[in-house]
Amino acid sequence: MVRMAGVRKCYGDLVVLDDLDLDIAANETVSIIGPSGSGKTTVLRVLMTLEEINGGVVYVDGEPLTHMDKNGQLVPASTKHQRKQRSNIGMVFQHFNLFPHMSALENCMEAPVQVLGLSKAEAKDRAEGLLDMVGLADKMGEHPLRLSGGQQQRVAIARALAMRPKVMLFDEVTSALDPEVIGEVLSVIRKLSEEFSLTMVMVTHQMGFAREISDRVCFFDNGSIAEMGEPEQIFTEPQNPRTQQFLSAVL
Ligand code: ATP
Repeated sequence: MVRMAGVRKCYGDLVVLDDLDLDIAANETVSIIGPSGSGKTTVLRVLMTLEEINGGVVYVDGEPLTHMDKNGQLVPASTKHQRKQRSNIGMVFQHFNLFPHMSALENCMEAPVQVLGLSKAEAKDRAEGLLDMVGLADKMGEHPLRLSGGQQQRVAIARALAMRPKVMLFDEVTSALDPEVIGEVLSVIRKLSEEFSLTMVMVTHQMGFAREISDRVCFFDNGSIAEMGEPEQIFTEPQNPRTQQFLSAVL
């Protein structure tokens, strides 16, 4: 479902992703863990087409996000193509990024109406179902500032799901939350992994959660994958000394 082949991403002289190869199958849940600054968030931003890459190709559902022009230069796919590709991918950010002037319900209706062309009635039905699913049936009319961080993050998850994406990206979605509301967000993600046919890629510092819900865990170091495997293997028998060092520091 997601394939990165030889992806290179630089900011000036800083090489953040270095010849990265990553394959994620349909319906797979993959967690990306690793030290701060190793490039984890950049992987998600590249998949969401929020960052242009300097080399390699990214495929989502078999379609490239970039292509070579006639001079052999890597260029973004056409805007129209990218817009379609982007609607296959939903992303949830650390800082929610909800529209502050819209209610929870309106936040979830906006893109389905504007991008997918759903009627307001269809988008409302869809949004209500999703807000109910994330446990916010009684908060649909509230604006984000009147919701707790955990509730705002659940609206953000419902909003991303409203586009019926094939792939969901979660970028440290509990990092900005108070400890007492982290559990409610994790249980929504757990529900998604159990009940929905979704491919999920999650950057997280929650090692216990990564171990519990992932099909595979990817340990990132210095812009490349140092080790990738099933959670039990990564957490109990890491092979790479860098993984061992990282896990012994954080666990
Ligand atoms: P963390 O766990 O701290 O969030 P990360 O592994 O997700 O880190 P990234 O956010 O992907 O790391 O950043 C990788 C590197 O790229 C870091 O050195 C960061 O400073 C740098 N970087 C990220 N975004 C930019 C940018 N827009 N301009 C310049 N450098 C950037």
